[in-house]
Amino acid sequence: MPLSELPDQAQEEHAAPASEATAEQAMCTACSGGFLTRQDVKTALWEGEGLVVIEGIAALVCQSCGEQYYEDDTAMKLDLMRGTGFSAENAVRSMTVPVFVFETPGTDHEAEEK
Ligand SMILES: [Zn+2]
Repeated sequence: MPLSELPDQAQEEHAAPASEATAEQAMCTACSGGFLTRQDVKTALWEGEGLVVIEGIAALVCQSCGEQYYEDDTAMKLDLMRGTGFSAENAVRSMTVPVFVFETPGTDHEAEEK
């Protein structure tokens, strides 16, 4: 969620270069109660049929519900990164992730396949 959806008071605090303790008192708009804390987060994006993980993203994270907010220039940089297509040679490392199939209670996937 872009930070621009936060209340005005949160926006004003970002007028100054955000270092450590500037935006800490911003409130979460998702649960309207949690305080936002600056934190490095990671996110996963679909890139075609593949998944890429971006870590070390500076975000504001709600201490109550975990909602993550990106500042405008962070969101913009993510868009720029997405625009470059995430060439594999720029990846710092690779990871393997387990894949699951959503199961509806009462159905058996094995039996459905012919
Ligand atoms: Zn929240």
